[in-house]
Amino acid sequence: MSDTNYPCGKCGSEMGMGFLVDRTDNSDYVLRWVEGEPVHPNLLGMTLKSVATQGRQDLGVRSLRCKRCGFVELYAV
Ligand SMILES: [Zn+2]
Repeated sequence: MSDTNYPCGKCGSEMGMGFLVDRTDNSDYVLRWVEGEPVHPNLLGMTLKSVATQGRQDLGVRSLRCKRCGFVELYAV
């Protein structure tokens, strides 16, 4: 996926490639797509904020953003 002549689905203008970031604890993490519903594990009776992802399909997320109207499309690749 790269900057392309793929037109915006809303206004038909040019789209530019990018990605979404989770900015947590002063670090930037690229978002990932994981199949299924989020499951928060329990540890000693406490539900963790993290989610279990082991054994699931896990893909990077890339996006196209319209340079005119800002419409964003997401792709798991
Ligand atoms: Zn647009």
